[in-house]
Amino acid sequence: MHVDRYAPSPTADLHLGNLRTALAGWLLARAAGGRWLMRIEDLDTARVRAADGAAARNLADLRRLGLDWDGDVLRQSERLDCYRDAIAMLGERVYECFCTRREILEATAAPHDDGYRPYPGTCLRLSRAERAQRREQRRPALRVRADGATCTIHDRFAGDVTAVVDDFVLVRGDGEFAYNLASVVDDVSSGVTHVTRGDDLLSSAPRQAWLAQLLGGAAPTYAHVGLVLGRDGRRLAKRNGPANLDEAGGPARVLPWLTASLGLGEHDDVAGALAAMPPDYEFWTSRMSIT
Ligand SMILES: [Zn+2]
Repeated sequence: MHVDRYAPSPTADLHLGNLRTALAGWLLARAAGGRWLMRIEDLDTARVRAADGAAARNLADLRRLGLDWDGDVLRQSERLDCYRDAIAMLGERVYECFCTRREILEATAAPHDDGYRPYPGTCLRLSRAERAQRREQRRPALRVRADGATCTIHDRFAGDVTAVVDDFVLVRGDGEFAYNLASVVDDVSSGVTHVTRGDDLLSSAPRQAWLAQLLGGAAPTYAHVGLVLGRDGRRLAKRNGPANLDEAGGPARVLPWLTASLGLGEHDDVAGALAAMPPDYEFWTSRMSIT
């Protein structure tokens, strides 16, 4: 069974790139006769509140494009107990990290292409007394001890991708559950087998797949779809392109553009695009410009 999910963060309206990724995931799931789930990633309370009602607008825009999902919408803000349980299940593998952003900057080598800095495990080597002392100064983040594991994931477009897993953050210093934990816990508990999302997340896939296995799940198969770029050639955002479905001209203008951008020709509805998918279909996955 092919089970994919779309997981918007309701901190803004969905732009063309978000909508294209959603359509890609929906098409792959429906073509496989599978399920397409919906999950609202609303753990960043302050930003969600600032975006005032974006979750409802996100869902409405997906419906306006004809993208229907299976089952109830999952909201991460209602699943905090599940994330706590996962931390408890990881037990001894979880440790406190007191490093400031600056300390990590100074302790690590050059960042990866995506700006991510692998953590060198500094706080793993603290003594019990040092830990007690630092706890008084600073609320720790929680990291998972990966012991230098490597993980290989399979991406439909990028092929096999192997990376060393660092001791990444599960719970942030402010107490909020990290994306890398919450999304993996949800994928495992929802039985997700396929993850379709933007290609900016490709480099984080090995550590997430590794955690999924640690939590008793299986690594999903990935499809990282090329981002849509704005007028200035950078990733689409408010300042360099239409901010949402209506600014882009509404479903009647956007759908044909989206289906053509996925190599299926122009279609007025998603059913037409689905019917146009050949059995050996491969997406046009490179990054797209809106101009
Ligand atoms: Zn640390």
